[in-house]
Amino acid sequence: MNYSAILEQIQTDVAPLLGQGKVATYIPALACADPHDFAMSLQLVSGESYHIGLHNKTFSIQSISKIFMYEMALNLFEESILGRVNVEPSGNPFNSLIQLEYENGIPRNPFINPGAIVIADMLTSYFKEKSLRSIIDFVQICANDASVSMDESIAESEHSNGYRNYALANLMKSFGNIKNDVESVLNTYFNCCSIAANTAQLARSILHLAHQGTDPLTSLKHLSPEHTKRINALMLTCGHYDASGEFAYRIGLPGKSGVGGGIVTTVPSIMSIAVYSPALNKHGNSLAGTKALELFSKYTGHSIF
Ligand code: GLN
Repeated sequence: MNYSAILEQIQTDVAPLLGQGKVATYIPALACADPHDFAMSLQLVSGESYHIGLHNKTFSIQSISKIFMYEMALNLFEESILGRVNVEPSGNPFNSLIQLEYENGIPRNPFINPGAIVIADMLTSYFKEKSLRSIIDFVQICANDASVSMDESIAESEHSNGYRNYALANLMKSFGNIKNDVESVLNTYFNCCSIAANTAQLARSILHLAHQGTDPLTSLKHLSPEHTKRINALMLTCGHYDASGEFAYRIGLPGKSGVGGGIVTTVPSIMSIAVYSPALNKHGNSLAGTKALELFSKYTGHSIF
């Protein structure tokens, strides 16, 4: 398949959409992103990679970091996570408080904010003051790139405006589902969300998810095949919050978005993909990025169905 030509076609097709949608402003440091930016990277399990647009430009991966946190938690705690975080689609926005109240502080899944905050709590209990270092080490190993790091100005901006995340964490603490103090848990969570990467690094960092948990290029095993199946299943059913059904319907691939404008996707056994365009649709997912992936699935026929 001529992936270079397909990427060029996609870039042309999405050009009129760039600038539609809105960049996230509730985290002030994200508001300066250029809504016209676009990048897309394909990382094949065979080692070849294809890129288009601003694939060297780093951006805040935000909720895409929830994948790495959950991978670490699965490796450490396995099925015991289930008592504290479920694996059902929420059908609600990523930062909604409503469901948490009537479901007794147990988040629906680890890819909405409250779910990732509980996972951050579990990792904080385990790694203590080494939590941030351990998470960034894991992301760097997955990306095979020691230059991936956190953007402290984003973390600080999120920290000082994280009213909803404080509300979510405090509500869950009142139900006994947060064990550490709220400040340290959110410190872990905000810093994870502030990891910065470009699309080439991001596609590379999830390549193992398209290859049963083992990086095909380094042979490092990051996750068991069984856990890899679970992460992909969660990406498909919960990776786009209350637009997860539509993403599955239109794209038919496991995917995870972040409010920084990134989306990652796997085509199991074939490749991983990262796309970036910071203007978001009403669900908080990249507008042009979602369209680019829909076109990619259409032009290549790649889908898990
Ligand atoms: N850091 C963001 C938040 O907590 C992550 C949300 C997202 O990417 N959807 O709100």
